[in-house]
Amino acid sequence: MTAHATGARHHTPVKVEQKLFQNRYVVDAARPHITVTPHTKPSKALLSLTKTCPAGCYEVNDTGQVEISVDGCLECGTCRILCGPSGEVQWSYPRGGYGVSFKFG
Ligand code: SF4
Repeated sequence: MTAHATGARHHTPVKVEQKLFQNRYVVDAARPHITVTPHTKPSKALLSLTKTCPAGCYEVNDTGQVEISVDGCLECGTCRILCGPSGEVQWSYPRGGYGVSFKFG
């Protein structure tokens, strides 16, 4: 029996990137909610954020340091878990009215 015959709807697969694009983000330029502690050489954990952050907020700059752009941060807490305890990342929720607004569905 086909999905059509059962009344079930067919769903076209949607890529994660397309889903994320539905979210809205308000940048708090005056107070980024996550900062990276200044460093000369990033630790392995800090460097790993360039791969583990699902929003791609972390990157290595020209001088080999890891930096963050919080625009698009999903507030998932991955970087907080990996680098919060060591003090390499300072993490807080955005102020009211700022940050991500998720669109579900
Ligand atoms: Fe990336 Fe999640 Fe950290 Fe935001 S909280 S910067 S999405 S790892």
